[in-house]
Amino acid sequence: MDLRTTKYPMPVRDPLVRNRDFEEVSLGYDGETARHEAQRCLHCKAHPCVDGCPVSVMIPDFIAKIAEGDFEGAYRIIGESSSLPAVCGRVCPQERQCEKFCVRGVKGEPVGIGRLERFAADYHLSHSEKTDRPVSNGHRVAVVGSGPAGLACAGELAKRGYEVTVFEALHTAGGVLVYGIPEFRLPKEIVRREVEHLLGLGVKIEMDSVIGRLYTVEELKRELGFEAVFLGTGAGLPRFMGIKGENAKGVFSANEYLTRANLMKAYEADSATPIYRGKRVAVVGGGNVAMDAARTAKRLGAEKVFIVYRRSREELPARREEVEHAVEEEIELQLLTNPVEIVTDGDNNVVALECVRMELGEPDESGRRRPVVKEGSEFRIEADCVIMALGTSPNPLIKQTTAGLLTKPRGEIAADENGKTSLEGVFAGGDAVTGSATVILAMGAGKVAARAIDEFIAGKE
Ligand code: FAD
Ligand code: SF4
Ligand code: SF4
Repeated sequence: MDLRTTKYPMPVRDPLVRNRDFEEVSLGYDGETARHEAQRCLHCKAHPCVDGCPVSVMIPDFIAKIAEGDFEGAYRIIGESSSLPAVCGRVCPQERQCEKFCVRGVKGEPVGIGRLERFAADYHLSHSEKTDRPVSNGHRVAVVGSGPAGLACAGELAKRGYEVTVFEALHTAGGVLVYGIPEFRLPKEIVRREVEHLLGLGVKIEMDSVIGRLYTVEELKRELGFEAVFLGTGAGLPRFMGIKGENAKGVFSANEYLTRANLMKAYEADSATPIYRGKRVAVVGGGNVAMDAARTAKRLGAEKVFIVYRRSREELPARREEVEHAVEEEIELQLLTNPVEIVTDGDNNVVALECVRMELGEPDESGRRRPVVKEGSEFRIEADCVIMALGTSPNPLIKQTTAGLLTKPRGEIAADENGKTSLEGVFAGGDAVTGSATVILAMGAGKVAARAIDEFIAGKE
């Protein structure tokens, strides 16, 4: 056992070099460091870490394999619960999940569970052989959307012998993993290999296929003969604040900004997609999306980038590591600050963000202290670009084109804990049901729904 009280450091690239390119920031453990970190685990009988993981990865077991040097064995254990370990090891908010409950965290830092998961998954990706295609059971299922929910559902069904076709609106599979989370945090090669693995299992992916336009959900069943449909369409519709000046030139939703940069590679010199390269960029919001947009703006050449967030640093919803990395990369945090107007010039170009300072009052329904405006605290942040990263809701297309599909007041699809919707044979999961959440929750929902679809089809027989 290794009694070191802090995690073995994760090698990262120099902040002032990496904030000018899109290559991955964290480099990952090598085998020796991973084995040392694994030896910090106490193999607690009650394993509280497992209870903190939304998909119950058997953490002490896979860590024991790493400590022994059986990296492929570690991957197999993780793979029993998670379909996307190379992704989750990188982007899960571990400090609020598995690592939050780690016993080693009581008198020091918890075991680096996410780092070890990433290590085992990366090892597997660089050493794995081709997967055998399962024998078909003759049943066909349609999956709408190729984000983590859709990919996990498709993979789980394919392993059970189903013939699965994924319909994806965009020209690349992966959902937010390719259009939202930037390359410097999650290399697209990792997502591509996960998708390739699914293709190896026999899953078909139809790109550029918007369900609700090309076919309705009803037509997928009635005319194309799919016995069940899984809706993993995410929550891609951005929210705005409704303040003056939001339609000015230089104002973007984080979704559009990140899609242009990540999916369309607008940062490359020969890209056909243009992007606005602001010199002073204000990003409104405090989640992962805001951090990603701010760090992308910096990499696109901005001299000053501000995160404008109405609560304090403790309440920032972004992963702690991302906040730390952003600050190292010279992103400035304007905390306890709320925008009230986007100021424009005579040509409707953004010139500043008018803000007020906030202070924290009594806790609200969410338990967090409510931000209250400080009277007379108005001030301006000079900016030529404003990016709104205030959360998203599901696109209404599926609801509008699917008669009888019940939704919640904010547009999320109503589904039970197994993903069953109000329509027979139609299941749903991920952000489309919960609103914007996390990769691991979306992936878990896709797997649960796959099991329910399996039972539904077996029940019909
Ligand atoms: P999505 O990933 O949104 O995938 C939905 C897919 O469905 C998309 O490909 C879309 O094109 C497709 N689609 C939609 N409508 C249709 C239609 N009608 N027909 C066909 N296809 C359709 N989570 C974390 O855990 N950690 C992080 O660090 C993190 N960072 C994030 C950073 C950003 C910038 C964003 C935007 C999100 C981040 N998240 C993070 C959240 C996480 O990515 C999402 O919770 C997760 O991707 C949801 O998965 P999903 O499969 O439900 O939906
Ligand atoms: Fe932790 Fe996420 Fe891995 Fe679960 S899937 S063990 S929460 S990193
Ligand atoms: Fe290991 Fe921490 Fe889990 Fe205990 S709680 S088994 S130390 S990872």
